[in-house]
Formats: sequence, structure tokens, C-alpha cells
Amino acid sequence: MDTTTRRRVDALLRNACARVAREDAELLLTFVLGKPRSWLFAHDDAELDASQAARFETLLARRVQGEPVAYLVGSRGFWTFDLAVTPDTLIPRPETERLVEAALSRLPADTPLRIADLGTGSGAIALALASECPQSMVVATDASEAALAVARGNADAARVANIRFRVGDWYGPLREDRFDLIASNPPYIAGDDEHLQRGDLRFEPVQALTPGGDGLSAIRVLAAGAPRHLLPGGWLLLEHGHDQGDAVRTLLVSAGLVDVATLQDLEHRDRVTLGRWRP
Ligand code: GLN
Repeated sequence: MDTTTRRRVDALLRNACARVAREDAELLLTFVLGKPRSWLFAHDDAELDASQAARFETLLARRVQGEPVAYLVGSRGFWTFDLAVTPDTLIPRPETERLVEAALSRLPADTPLRIADLGTGSGAIALALASECPQSMVVATDASEAALAVARGNADAARVANIRFRVGDWYGPLREDRFDLIASNPPYIAGDDEHLQRGDLRFEPVQALTPGGDGLSAIRVLAAGAPRHLLPGGWLLLEHGHDQGDAVRTLLVSAGLVDVATLQDLEHRDRVTLGRWRP
């Protein structure tokens, strides 16, 4: 590439879109420029200098090799946040916002509640619930210290102070505590699912994607332990795979939860199953 020529945004994007999805090209380009993606609407005649154009080309080449855009730019939008993400954390997905909405619609407003997010990763669910329920206290756990460091950084950056982070597996860090609502997006992909070998999933932490086997072992632990960690009337909400709704409802009912139901994501696939504890 000629290192002295300035490059116009529209020409760069046109070329890039032949190699990657338009959304990806726009996210990488505006990352290089330090602008929000909305800036592009009015600035397609803007110019990049040679070093910006070279940085863009490097990121584009890595994207073409499969690296997730969220890891290349170090962040992903979720709820009202721009969350830092690293290869130590799952990349937050829009379907998990469905779980957040379902949780919020079951929490009485303006009441101090106790909430837990188990396997918080980048902190997505915990930050969303803590920010929407400022009087409540959220406990966010993860087995990965590296993931918790990312989640803590996200809470600090967003000035969300009503979260406590604890390291450990599932209910382990909760000790004897009980909660009004426990949410989790656990690993749920079956160990032999070919999707693990495709797309962004190849680059994400495997322990956040799959517990191995039939994909349900983490959900079995979460269902079985719920009665010991929910307050009377408290809710358990679990994200799961589109073909796991029947199995997860059965696990929640077997654990003794009531009002068990499955909610669908925006693409009308089973995605979140919930139930409550009535001793
Ligand atoms: N929803 C993710 C996917 O199917 C998986 C996340 C998870 O296992 N919790 O790509």
C-alpha cells in the first residue's frame, strides 16, 4: 500500500465489505478512528491517514482469519454498556438480554433485593441487573479469576457499585446465602456439537461454552442447588440451547421449583427457562 496516500472511508469500507460482513468492517474502522459506529452515517467522505489505514488493514486480515470482532476491538455492546471483553470471557450475545428482561419483569421495583449471577464472565448479566436495580445487591461469581478481573473492570468503568465478585464454581461461592433471584448463562453446548469448531466460538473460552457431554451438566448443578439458595418465592433463570427447553424444564420441576416455564428469544427459539422456589 502507498504509505503517503490518505484513504477515504467510503472506499475503504467498500473494499472491506467484499471480505467481511459490513457490520464487522464498520466496527473495526470506527475502532481505529476512535469514533462511535453512528459517526459513519455522516462521515463517509472522511479520510484515514496511512497509519490508521494500515491498522485497519491488519485488523481486517485478522478478522478474515476468523478472530471475533469483539476480541479485536476489545469490547461488545450489551444492555446499556460497552463491555470490555477478552479471550478469557465469552462474548455477550443479544439473546442473553432476553434473560435480563425476564429477570427484571419478575423483580419488584424499588425494593432492596438479593440477586446472584453465576458464571458472570464479562459481568454482562450482573451489570445489567445491578444498574437497573440500584437498591439491590448482586453477587457475581466465576470459576475464572481472569474473567472476574474483566467483570470487575467493567463494573468500575460503568460506576456500578452494587456488585460483589466471588471466585468459584456455581453455588460454591454463595456459601449458605439465599437470594431473591439467581440468574446464569452457563456453558450448555454439547461436547460434540460441531458449532464449537465454527465462527467466533473457536476463539472463546471452551469452559464458558460447553461442560462436555450432553451440555446439561452445569444446568443440572444449577437446578439441583436452587432450593438451598433461593429465598421463598425466589426465581431461578437459566439460559440454554434452543433444543434444551424440555430437558431444562424437567430438571427444574425435579428440583422442586414451581411456575416453571420456557421463554423464547427474538428468533422464536427456546432460550430461557425459569422457575421459583415455594417451600
Ligand atoms: N449462546 C452461545 C452460543 O450458542 C453459547 C453460550 C453458552 O454456552 N452459554 O453461541
